Order: sequence, then structure tokens, then C-alpha cells
Amino acid sequence: MTPAANGEVRLRRWAAALVAVLGLLLVGTWATVRLTTNHLLEREAAAGARNWAEFLAASIGDLEQIAAGEQPVAASMAFFENARKSGQVFRYVIFNRDGYSQLVSDRERIALVDLSEFNPLAAHALLSGRPQVDFRKADTPALPAYYAAAYVPVHAAGQPVAVVAAYVDQTEQRALFFQAFVAAAAALCTLTSLSFGVPAIAWYRRTKEKQRAERSIRFLSHHDPLTGLINRASFVVRLERALVQGRALAGEVALHVIDIDRFKDVNETLGHHGGDALLKAVADRLRLVARQSDLVARLGGDEFVVAQLGVADKAQAEDFARRLWSALSAPLPFRDQEIAATVSVGIAVSPMHGESAARLLKSADLAVHSAKAGGRNCIRFFSAELDESVQARLRLERMVREATEREAFFLAYQPIFELSGRRLVGFEALLRLRDADGQPIPPSTFIPLAEEMRLIGRIGAWALREACRTAAGWPESLRVAVNLSPSQFAEGDICAIVAAALHESRLAPKRLELEITEQLLFANDERNVAALAQLKASGVAIVMDDFGTGYSSLSYLWKFPFDKIKIDRSFMQGLGGADERVATVVKTIIALGRELHMPVTVEGVETAEQVRFLAAADAQHVQGFWFGEPMSATDTMIAILDDLRRRGALPPPNGGGKPALHLVK
Ligand code: C2E
Ligand code: CA
Ligand code: CA
Repeated sequence: MTPAANGEVRLRRWAAALVAVLGLLLVGTWATVRLTTNHLLEREAAAGARNWAEFLAASIGDLEQIAAGEQPVAASMAFFENARKSGQVFRYVIFNRDGYSQLVSDRERIALVDLSEFNPLAAHALLSGRPQVDFRKADTPALPAYYAAAYVPVHAAGQPVAVVAAYVDQTEQRALFFQAFVAAAAALCTLTSLSFGVPAIAWYRRTKEKQRAERSIRFLSHHDPLTGLINRASFVVRLERALVQGRALAGEVALHVIDIDRFKDVNETLGHHGGDALLKAVADRLRLVARQSDLVARLGGDEFVVAQLGVADKAQAEDFARRLWSALSAPLPFRDQEIAATVSVGIAVSPMHGESAARLLKSADLAVHSAKAGGRNCIRFFSAELDESVQARLRLERMVREATEREAFFLAYQPIFELSGRRLVGFEALLRLRDADGQPIPPSTFIPLAEEMRLIGRIGAWALREACRTAAGWPESLRVAVNLSPSQFAEGDICAIVAAALHESRLAPKRLELEITEQLLFANDERNVAALAQLKASGVAIVMDDFGTGYSSLSYLWKFPFDKIKIDRSFMQGLGGADERVATVVKTIIALGRELHMPVTVEGVETAEQVRFLAAADAQHVQGFWFGEPMSATDTMIAILDDLRRRGALPPPNGGGKPALHLVK
């Protein structure tokens, strides 16, 4: 049973228990009130009847004689006469000492009885010496519906001589009591249901509401709200299950990833309503073509996927893809227009194109990308060539992951010089990674991958610590520049990481420069600007790297007071080329930097000509192969000594002309 159904059953059980408890409470209240009123009524009736009987016993002087069968004297007769007219007593009976009736006085007559009757209660009163009370419901019309009878023994000289019984009509009293009882019971029941039922109903409704909310949250976490299809996460879970079942049933799974061609254009020309309508229509059509057992999901954006289950061969998968493709290519009426969209389909079949859900999805994804690259509006199977690139990527991913775990990266340091005095001012730390054969992997390959794999935070923190540690061994005038990826700001607390690296290495903050690119200021810029400000406040210099490559680099200069600007190396490559404006732009940036008190570093300087140009343009700092390639941490010491010697701060090495490198080694 699903958790939702479970919850529903549990709630229903609780509700039933609640109703039962409420019912019990009501019945209990009713019964208690009824018992109490009955008890009170009986006591009242008994007391009344007894009083009357005792009053009679005390008022009749010749009781003993009457009980012995004699006619009452005139005074007693008069008493009976009066008594029967008044009060609720409708009958008096006098019994003899054996419990047999002797005289009856009721509303019709006052007479000695001809046929004496034995009354067990009268006899019991005589024997016990205590009054007995009886409460009855009459079944003859001659008697009141409800009455009470009290039998009071009368003694003379310590001996019981007679019993006087008084019969009191309780019909009216009972009706009054009953009314009071109903009113009391009703009030109590209402109170009970209010004090118990209202919170119970509130609880029930709240729980019901919570369940409804939970249900919709659960739905949303598994589904795409726009199309109602399952989402990527849920698809992967179900596909994984289907793959396991497929293995058991010997049926294959074909994955069809569908991408709408030029979806952006639809969004731009028809607005988001048009885009949404198209996405919904695609979802509906996919549902129509797919079988009940197939899995249909929206992977995100304009990407959909159908897992076709129980596929016999490639041909069957292709046939299915064709049906998908033609169903989706039919034009869709939208308002008074028509949306004519085409789709690209990429197919991967298990197990030849992947055994796990992730791998199959990747394969189908590659296939759809190749379909798009091949001109769109077509169907492509995953192929071996695509497989190679997948394998290469997987190898690289593994390498990056392992290097992160084993801290197998290393740093190369490229010198930065002050141009006018050719003085070494510091180094830029550049991340390096070698493959199993010792071949360097370009940072432009492994850094974006590490970002994608969310490992750049760890790697970057390591690079910071390592660079600070190395720089701490240099002369105090030298600084170290470390590159930061935007993801490092998103992945962790960059300020804390920088502070820890400085603290650990005891490097003065002013000797650390952090190079960031304008991408950091694209998105979420307020948070990132705040982090940059905090870093700057701690004494660290912030450098705008790759300046001039973006579209609006200038505007970013106003967003944050950078300490330095680094002109991208592409400008040096463009210098002396067909476009003469490059030279103008470089000169302008250098002049602007002066104006803003932001020293400019030009990177990628490779030729003497470039150096001359930069000297004329009055550039402050330079970096590039002309001045020095990235080198190992040990080699930085040689470069530093070299620099000192060149400026005459150190005597020339023994042996005169030999390069410094040999000397140190
Ligand atoms: P970048 O920050 O622009 O680094 C300068 C790049 O220019 C380096 O490439 C360097 O080797 C290269 N270069 C230096 N002089 C010359 C020259 O005269 N001519 C030419 N053509 N190139 C020159 P590299 O080492 O391949 O780094 C590439 C990019 O990788 C860096 O560009 C930087 O964005 C990134 N990167 C490097 N290390 C790190 C790091 O520790 N963390 C992060 N987040 N990114 C890094
Ligand atoms: Ca850099
Ligand atoms: Ca750069």
C-alpha cells in the first residue's frame, strides 16, 4: 500500500474511533442522567408516601381495633374523609398484624374489606419493624400510571399491631421529573459533544487538510506541475526498477529522449503561453502514443523522455520513435494561429547502450544532441562514436574525482612583472592535473568538469591553501594570485575558506590576490558582492580577471571597487591583427584603470613587439610566456633569485654566465 493510502486508512480508523467515543459519551451521559433522576424520583416518592403513612398512623387512635376488624370510630372516619380529599394520596390501607388488609380508604369508599388480602410487603414491614416502600407502574386503568406505596408498622406496648399503607400518585411528579431530566440530559449531551466533538472535528479537519497538502507536495515532488508527467528524479527511479524487471523478463528497454527543435523561437514569438501550450500538447501526445506500461516524463525545459518497455529489437524501437516523431510533428492550433514544431529524437536501447538508468539517459541524451547537431527534425540511435566520447568523459570524471580525493592536483606559478622596472611582483597560481600517462590535462577541460561535478569547492580550497603556503616562503614583496570559480562562492563559505588558508600559512592578507571573472556578478550578485566586500575588507586584493571578454565588462567595474584589472590574453593575440581597434581598446582600458586607480595587468604577452606596445601604452603589470611560463613551486625560488640578481640586489652566481636554474639545482 502507498503511504498516502496508508494515511487515509489510518485517518478513517481514527475518525471511526472518534465517532464511537462520542457515541459512548452521549449514551453514557444519557444513562447517568436517567439513573440519577429515577433515583431522585423514587426517593422523593418514598419519602412522601412514608410521611403520609406515618401521619395517618399517628392521627388514628383506634388503629389496633381497626386492624382487628372493628369499624373505625367517628373521629377516625372523619379523618379518613378529610384525608382522601386532599393531597396526592389516593388510597390508605390498614393491615392486621398478619399482613392481611382490613380497611381500605380511597376516592370511592371507606370500608372494611370483605375479602381480606395478604400483602407480603406489609408482612415484611411487621416482621422487620421498619417501613417498606414500593414503587410501581400500574397496569390497570383503575390506578394511576405511576405510584409509590409505603408500609409503616404501628406498635403498641412494643408489639406490632397493624400496618398503615399510603399510596401516593406519582404520575404528575414523574412527568415533571422526566421533563427536567430530558432538559438536563439534552444540555449535558450538547455540552459533552461541544467540548469533545468541536476539538475532535477541528482535529479531523486539520489532519485531513494536512494529508491533502502532503499529497500535493508528494505529487509535486514526483511530477512536473505544467504537464502532470513524472519528473526526472521519479523517472530515474522507475526506469531503474523497469531495468531490473526487464532483465528478469528478458525484455529490453528503449529510451527515447525528445527535444523540441527551436523551442526558444516558439517562446519568443508566441510568448510563454504559447510555449506552455506546446509543452502540454507534447505531453498529451506522448501519453497517447505510449502504452500504459511505458514511462513518460518531462526531463526539464523542452526535453521529454519515453521509456518503451518490453522491446524485442532495435527495429521495434525505431518504429515506435517514428510514431512519436510524427505524432509530435502535427501542427498545434494555438489561438488563431498554428504552432508547427518539429522534434529531434535520440534513442538508446538497454543493455547495449547502457545498463543503468543514468548511463542509458546519458546515451539517449548524446543521441539527441547528435540528432540536433545533424540538422534537427530527425531520429538518431546512440552509436559507438558517441560512446567513445562518453567513455572519455567518464574517464575524465573518474580522474577528477580521484584527484580530488587524493589531492593529486598541483599548482604551477606564472610570474607577473612590473613592466617599467622589469621587477617581479608575484605569481599567478594555476591548477594542473596529469592523466595516468603523465600527460597534462588542460584546465579548460577539467575545471568546468569539476564545476559540473560540484567538486570545485574542495579543489579550489586546496589550491588556496597550497598557494598561500608556497607564497609564505617567498620574499615579503611578492604576492600570489589565485583564481576563484563562481561555483566556489555558491558551494561554500568562501570568506571562511580564504581566512583559514591565510591563517594556516601565516601569509599577510595583502599578499593574496583573488582573481574572479564577471560571471560571478551575473547571477545572485548581491550575495557575491557582499562576499567580495568582506574579502576586500580583510585586506585581500580582488582582481577582475579576463577583462574585456564579456559583453558588459565595463558595467561590472562599477559594481565593485576592484583592486586590479587583468586584460584577457585574447587581446594580445588580436594585437597586430586585422582589427586595429584592438590596440585602441587595450590602450583605453589601461588609461581607464589609471583613472579608477585600478592597476592593469596584461596577460598573454608573448612577443617583444607586444612588450613595446605595452610600454608605450604605459601598462603597469605584465604576464605571459615572454616573461616566464607557469613553473613548479621549486622553480619559483630560482625565478626569484634571478630577479634579485638582475636588479643587482644579489651578486652574480659563481661561474658567471651560466643560467641561474643550473646553479640552484
Ligand atoms: P586564466 O586565469 O586566464 O589564466 C591564464 C592562462 O593563460 C593560463 O592558462 C596560462 O597558462 C595562460 N598563459 C599564460 N601566459 C600565456 C601566453 O603568453 N600565451 C598564452 N596563449 N597563454 C598564456 P591555463 O593554466 O591553461 O589556465 C586556464 C584557465 O583555467 C585560467 O585562465 C583560469 O581561468 C582557470 N584556472 C587555472 N587555475 C585555476 C584555479 O586554481 N582555480 C580556478 N577556479 N580556475 C583556474
Ligand atoms: Ca587568472
Ligand atoms: Ca585571464
